[in-house]
Amino acid sequence: MDKALFEELKRIYKDDILYKKEDIYPYAYDTSPNPKEIMLPEFVVYPTNSSQVSQTVLLGLKYNVSIIPRGAGTCHCGGCRVKTKSIVMHFSKMDKILEINKEDLTMRVQPNAVIKNINEKAEELNLFFPPDPSNLAVSTIGGAVALSSGGPRTFKYGSTKDYVVNLEVVLADGKIIKTGSDIAKNVTGYNLTSLFVGSEGTLGIITEITLKLIPKPQTRLVTLAYFNDLLEATSAVNSIINSGFIPATLDLLDKNTITTIEKYNPCGLLCDKEAVLLIELDGFRECVDFECAKVLKILKESNAAQIIQAQNEEENEKIWRARRSSFAAVTKLRPNVITEDVVVPRSKIVPLVRGIQDICAKYNIIVCIMGHAGDGNIHPNFALDLSDRLEKENFEKAKDELFALAISLGGSLSGEHGIGYEKKKYLKDALDSGAIEYMEKIKKLFDPNNIINPYKMF
Ligand SMILES: Cc1cc2nc3c(=O)[nH]c(=O)nc-3n(C[C@H](O)[C@H](O)[C@H](O)COP(=O)(O)OP(=O)(O)OC[C@H]3O[C@@H](n4cnc5c(N)ncnc54)[C@H](O)[C@@H]3O)c2cc1C
Repeated sequence: MDKALFEELKRIYKDDILYKKEDIYPYAYDTSPNPKEIMLPEFVVYPTNSSQVSQTVLLGLKYNVSIIPRGAGTCHCGGCRVKTKSIVMHFSKMDKILEINKEDLTMRVQPNAVIKNINEKAEELNLFFPPDPSNLAVSTIGGAVALSSGGPRTFKYGSTKDYVVNLEVVLADGKIIKTGSDIAKNVTGYNLTSLFVGSEGTLGIITEITLKLIPKPQTRLVTLAYFNDLLEATSAVNSIINSGFIPATLDLLDKNTITTIEKYNPCGLLCDKEAVLLIELDGFRECVDFECAKVLKILKESNAAQIIQAQNEEENEKIWRARRSSFAAVTKLRPNVITEDVVVPRSKIVPLVRGIQDICAKYNIIVCIMGHAGDGNIHPNFALDLSDRLEKENFEKAKDELFALAISLGGSLSGEHGIGYEKKKYLKDALDSGAIEYMEKIKKLFDPNNIINPYKMF
């Protein structure tokens, strides 16, 4: 342990600092696949304000120690992993909703405010914060802003990036800046706010966020439409979109996902169909009824084998609980689950899904495929035993082929989970080399000593 650094951290944090191996061990992980050799951070600190964050960054510079910001640690792509001598900064003591402005439709929050709490607080005032990652019960707004997290409602409402108007950020030289103003519309200067949203904690540390809220939709209605053929399901998606309105959600689950959810969390899903579409309509009751009639007609014309509609809010929620349990259900199949995240033009969903099934058949890997069909954003959940050397090697090959397939279909590496450590080797295949060069220059400009979450993305 670096004694001199410890003494300086002690002065800032008193007892809010961890250094024993058994205490810091969990902070070496996120939900990405376990690396062969795990590297532990030197220290974990719990700041309570941005001044402490700034002082810690200055110590990072002085002692050449990296700073890794961390929320709930549910990142799928290794964004929270430790790669150098590091201090992990955990924001659990900065979790407050500071202010809601009902007139201006804004909410000021600290980075560890949990998304579910933000949603519920907004709804108490008949307001709405749409981003809804499936793990919203634990996912923090700091992590969601750093990744620009999305979710099923992204199709209609956009992702986190569309709801951030201002950030307080601690930069790599210890300076504390505001990136914009707490206003909904603003083109004053470069859009620094947008630059930090989705920067995966590599450009600076977010210590306060001003979110934009919108009025809460009055009602919602969830429909499940089962299909015997994947192509029929995706053509129903296109027909719904072409009919002149946008559902809040158009999610797709394949047969393996439906069967796995039903096996471990019986909730009445039909397991003999190739795919199910989960469609949520929301808005004023009259609009929802009007759109629902159109959707039902389209589903029937698209040859839906069975259509089940929630009759009340309790049934809406029951369907959503089943949908959100998919990751947990897949974890029961094999010791490890790796969730991937690729995105293609909506017209290419069928070749993507069929291609993933072929790749997994070739390498003998169990896969449950689901995703946001409206956005072309597909998540294959691979159920594996990574302690089996051959299976691990096969998975690496399958992963290479998955990303190559998505890119060959005009798609990209991530719709919402980011690049982190896990996907950086594929970045050159997905982006123009000039774009990567300028992204690296931006990183160097903000963090010339490479101490803020280093070796992620590039
Ligand atoms: C079961 C499950 C379901 C999921 N469903 C979805 C989904 O539907 N949609 C989706 O988009 N994602 C999903 N995810 C991925 C991920 O959990 C989310 O993106 C989530 O919002 C990340 O939040 P977190 O608090 O866990 O962030 P963390 O994992 O702690 O951090 C994520 C990244 O942000 C950085 N970071 C954290 N806090 C800060 C800060 N204050 N300043 C700067 N950088 C920071 C970290 O360094 C890291 O690079 C899911 C994950 C799981 C395990």
